[in-house]
Amino acid sequence: MSVRFFYKDIEFEGISEGGIRTCVIVKKFNLMFDIGYIHPERIHIPNVLLTHAHIDHIAGVPYYISQRSLRKLSPPNIYVHREIYEKLEQILKLFSELEGFDYEYNLQVVQGNETIFLNNNHNFKALLSNHRIPSQGYTIYEHVKKLKPEYLGLDGRDIAQKKMQGENLVNELDIPMVSFSGDTTIEYVLQNKDVMESKILFLECTYIDEVRSTSHARSWGHIHLDEIVQYASCFKNEKLVLMHFSKRYSARYIKEIVYKKVPDFLRDRVHCFL
Ligand SMILES: [Zn+2]
Ligand SMILES: [Zn+2]
Repeated sequence: MSVRFFYKDIEFEGISEGGIRTCVIVKKFNLMFDIGYIHPERIHIPNVLLTHAHIDHIAGVPYYISQRSLRKLSPPNIYVHREIYEKLEQILKLFSELEGFDYEYNLQVVQGNETIFLNNNHNFKALLSNHRIPSQGYTIYEHVKKLKPEYLGLDGRDIAQKKMQGENLVNELDIPMVSFSGDTTIEYVLQNKDVMESKILFLECTYIDEVRSTSHARSWGHIHLDEIVQYASCFKNEKLVLMHFSKRYSARYIKEIVYKKVPDFLRDRVHCFL
């Protein structure tokens, strides 16, 4: 059974359970973040953005590629951290040999300031995160053109005339729309302005109470709810969607603790992906 979350015209669908499975599909952008499992009816989504190689985030890769090859769907694009590339390639080659047919896919490293285009108006980048193995989150940007402030008072005819004269009337900018953390410590948020300012931030929150402390969370490369509370003023997001909760907690308990701990000014913007 999948979880759904809507923000304006963007629908997020999937499951995120700490240590068990994470896969969040964004139909609007034709992509999924991680593939710790895959519903057979979502095989047609052609882009996968992998955060890291823990099995709860990556287990579905061979199945996904195999199914797409059998169904004669186009080779999917699978984006990865550079440290993952070679070993994943070897694994896929072995699976392909075991299955006795060719796996078709484009495995691609994303790193640094590289921009990958999704469509005319949207692109994404990988921002390094901080986990026990090489990892990165992803931020999807909307490319917008805004009239320069000095032209704001002009009417349509003046604007058209200036355009005809070849004047550049607009500033072009990329607005961070969606960030997806994968598994990480809180530094992924604190060190990336675009993550703090994304309209929607899917953020891991593996631990929430004192049984597993903040230092425990940090030593395993995860975030504790107490750190989200501690840095609450950093979150400029319209929606902060918490995911990847440990299975030691029930959904009811998670909602209760999150509601209790998160300060008023952030509470209305927080959503638990459960
Ligand atoms: Zn995980
Ligand atoms: Zn992990």
